[in-house]
Amino acid sequence: MGTAVDAANKETNGSLLDEKKVTVVFVLGGPGSGKGTQCANIVQHFGFTHLSAGDLLRAEIKSGSENGTMIQNMINEGKIVPSEVTIKLLQRAMRESGNNKFLIDGFPRNEENRAAFEAVTKIEPEFVLFFDCSEEEMERRLLSRNQGREDDNIETIRKRFKVFLESSLPVVEYYNVKGKVRKIDAAKPIEEVFEAVKAIFTSKDEKGKTKHSRVHWCGIL
Ligand code: UDP
Ligand code: MG
Repeated sequence: MGTAVDAANKETNGSLLDEKKVTVVFVLGGPGSGKGTQCANIVQHFGFTHLSAGDLLRAEIKSGSENGTMIQNMINEGKIVPSEVTIKLLQRAMRESGNNKFLIDGFPRNEENRAAFEAVTKIEPEFVLFFDCSEEEMERRLLSRNQGREDDNIETIRKRFKVFLESSLPVVEYYNVKGKVRKIDAAKPIEEVFEAVKAIFTSKDEKGKTKHSRVHWCGIL
């Protein structure tokens, strides 16, 4: 019987999941915590493909898609775009990459994102890399980074922080309970943060799949 989930599965699995084992690491942390910067470093050293959900959504707006205006409005309000849209973009990018190791950056952002991704792709993340950073520091970075992003203004930034605390941190906690969270102190300089990241990606535990204990909860709260 063909449900919507089956159809979506088939779409991804056809050229990807059937043949190869797929490794996914979710990279989570507040806006401005350094996810994108560190993902670029991880790609260089560990052969992952970096998929930023935010970048995929911004590219979708630029492509003139019929969802473009809706996505733009959600981003400008700091709101979370419906899972269906984001998951389709992620699946397509995974298929087109030809790789089987992915850093999924900035997704899942709420419980619904998480459950829908799991239901559609049947993929469980290997672990969750969580960048822990104070709101003060993140705000400072966002206001000084000048990437020409419309949502990097103080009003939208405050909304993004609120959504992060209310909707995204519970996803990190969900994986924390499962012992899957690898927490990084992201307030440090880029090089120091990357040393900590490298240690996680090269750890024997990660390779041997030794069970990790739960981390102490984050400093943001
Ligand atoms: N966004 C979304 N779903 C996602 C990822 C991003 O709806 O899975 C939207 C959301 O409005 C968010 C914006 O895109 O505030 C920017 O996300 P991005 O990850 O690029 O920025 P960050 O918050 O990490 O700085
Ligand atoms: Mg980003």
